[in-house]
Amino acid sequence: MTARPLVGVLALQGDVREHIVALEKCGATPTLVRRASELAAVDGLVLPGGESTTISKLLQTFELLEPLRARLRAGMPAFGSCAGMILLASEVLDTRADAEHLHGIDMTVRRNAFGRQVDSFEADLDFAGLDDGPMRAVFIRAPWVERAGEGVEVLATVPHGPAAGRIVAVRQGAVVATSFHPEVTGDLRVHELFVDLVRRGKAERDDLG
Ligand code: GLN
Repeated sequence: MTARPLVGVLALQGDVREHIVALEKCGATPTLVRRASELAAVDGLVLPGGESTTISKLLQTFELLEPLRARLRAGMPAFGSCAGMILLASEVLDTRADAEHLHGIDMTVRRNAFGRQVDSFEADLDFAGLDDGPMRAVFIRAPWVERAGEGVEVLATVPHGPAAGRIVAVRQGAVVATSFHPEVTGDLRVHELFVDLVRRGKAERDDLG
């Protein structure tokens, strides 16, 4: 399983560059995704941080919403950070009435959950299944997961402070989401985990023929 999988980064808005760099370092071949034909070609997709309502609108403009939902239903691995987490949710609180989401993970996410006064903060998280100690997490107007469905594995929660215990990283099958931005710290462990899921998905598909 040494082949470099082709991993798209949804490039409508947000911190696309940072994910491209991280994916490259993790042994994937990153590529920008702005149209349905590009989405069809990738083995997995990253949904970057940014502004979820803007990305939602652009998904409709670029006619990507339904193709993306279809690929997620068919099992495409995906990773969303921050706004990407919001987009992957099955239900979103405190968003615009016309915002669309992708139902990639059975979870309810609250936008800007940490409050306006805490625009951004950092914390050291224990991240399930990762070696080498806690992960420095950068939160920027971040959401949290208010409800995680039965099939959803909680990977990390806020360790202390007023939001202690809030869920900030989850996985359901091959879909991973974090409230924070692993793409900005240089800690590649979440991207590595994701690229590994993509490789496994690709190997399974290749086996099937
Ligand atoms: N607050 C943003 C939103 O609602 C997410 C912030 C981010 O991605 N850094 O989409």
